Amino acid sequence: MSCIGRFAPSPTGPLHAGSVLAALGSWLDARAHGGRWLVRIEDVDGPRCPPGMDREILRQLDVLGLRPDAPPQWQSQRGALYEAALAQLISGGAAYPCACTRKELVLAQQARDRHGDLRYPGTCRPENGGLRGRAPRAWRLRVTPGVLQWQDRRLGPQQQDVEHTVGDFVLKRADGLWAYQLAVVVDDAQQGISDVVRGADLADNTPRQIQLQQALGLPRPRYLHLPLVLAEDGQKLSKQNGAAPFDESRPLLTLKTAALALGLKDLPDTDHAADWLCAATRAWASTHNARF
Ligand code: GLU
Repeated sequence: MSCIGRFAPSPTGPLHAGSVLAALGSWLDARAHGGRWLVRIEDVDGPRCPPGMDREILRQLDVLGLRPDAPPQWQSQRGALYEAALAQLISGGAAYPCACTRKELVLAQQARDRHGDLRYPGTCRPENGGLRGRAPRAWRLRVTPGVLQWQDRRLGPQQQDVEHTVGDFVLKRADGLWAYQLAVVVDDAQQGISDVVRGADLADNTPRQIQLQQALGLPRPRYLHLPLVLAEDGQKLSKQNGAAPFDESRPLLTLKTAALALGLKDLPDTDHAADWLCAATRAWASTHNARF
């Protein structure tokens, strides 16, 4: 079976040890399957992306020697695809407009008296009265009730009741921006991605993405969620908490550190990057390929 993998950074800050792990893991997985590796710049949330950060990330990948097999794609240029997907969902009754403001949602959440319950209560579902004459703000997916089961290549069998965990989630935001869930599902399908390899912090988004695939009639890729790199204080390394960019003067050391976090063992202590990447690809194949 042919394999197409991808690395899909949001250009909100430079690559750090955590994002290098996702880049290397997805690259190794594609290489270990003799497949292709694509890079997609996830810049749908434009206001959070400093100008030029996309180019900076592509340059950093080049420094690491992780080069995509096709020109990168930018989500900010793919709005027509997301519009078509939303239109398909609306015409099939799977998406509906929502007039709730953030303030109303917070109040509704407090009233539900269930600590930490972040579900959307379905206020604007057509059967609950719909917009009631108010102006539409966002678009939501009508989620399917029941427990959704899925398989992760590293974590094993997973399940989530999407309706009871998040409820009907946003596809297009009140500020007109496309939501990550819709963009990622449309792009993974349109680019023929067979294997999604990304950080474990995104694992609990997967059931929402599978529901969207089902609603749009799209195939489900295989999923592998990688271990997270934690900062010294035990927090997840992220651009938001100011994780430092990796040390560009020592790209191979950066890759070696990421490989250790990926659990790859017995890698040669060579200074030759191409040799090391070949050995790491073989190590990845013997660790992960046997599992599917
Ligand atoms: N753009 C997301 C991020 O940078 C990753 C999305 C994905 O891999 O599905 O966290």
